[in-house]
Amino acid sequence: MRRAGQVNALALAAACAAVRPGVTTAELDRIAARVIREHGGTPAFLHYPNPAPGGPAYPATINASIDAELVHGLPSKRRLREGEIISIDVGTVLGGFVGDSAVTVPVGNISAEARALLEVTERALWLGIEASRVGNRFGDVSATIQEYAESLGYGVVREYTGHGVGREMHEDPQIPNWGKRDRGAPLHAGMTFALEPMLVVGSPDLRVKRDGWTVTTVSGNLCAHFEHTIAVTDGEPIVLTAL
Ligand code: MG
Ligand code: MG
Repeated sequence: MRRAGQVNALALAAACAAVRPGVTTAELDRIAARVIREHGGTPAFLHYPNPAPGGPAYPATINASIDAELVHGLPSKRRLREGEIISIDVGTVLGGFVGDSAVTVPVGNISAEARALLEVTERALWLGIEASRVGNRFGDVSATIQEYAESLGYGVVREYTGHGVGREMHEDPQIPNWGKRDRGAPLHAGMTFALEPMLVVGSPDLRVKRDGWTVTTVSGNLCAHFEHTIAVTDGEPIVLTAL
């Protein structure tokens, strides 16, 4: 899990380092794929089955989701523009285990509204990680994220959740970014899972674009997504996808 997480972190960092006005999301995809393969891994998203029956399998290594796009944005010849925000999500299979992580980063100078959204979403992730300790339940982790985000007026996405990660990218349990304290299964040392808060400026209602993958806010408002794969221990949680 550590090795898969580290290679995933390297791939994500390399793609993020290339983000600038004028670069295409296809180029970011190629960069991440190259890093994963150089380290002997396989992109976990490539050929991932569509959640809709008969929908197209996922065609790329990364999700490149811009501004009002939340997740599953398809890499393309589209060039990034100054002032946009882009969420890059990537997964790596290595040695039979999976790493899964995401960040949302600015393209050049961004608005104060966008900057605040990124800061709060990343902070929500780290608060969730901090709550991922023996003695807590999954509901405590979920509630920690929800309470922080909503206290600052952001919408919390309901359709997508964190999840167990191990030999498969998506394992039980689902870990919503909302919930009630003292509910859900207790956390145990050795559990590995991904936390991934997704916050929206305003209503969190979503729709899927005609390409069958890209998920965007109905309002057209900005949204952000940060994710790490972590391990619960008897002490501090280990962030497996941190560099
Ligand atoms: Mg992910
Ligand atoms: Mg995930």
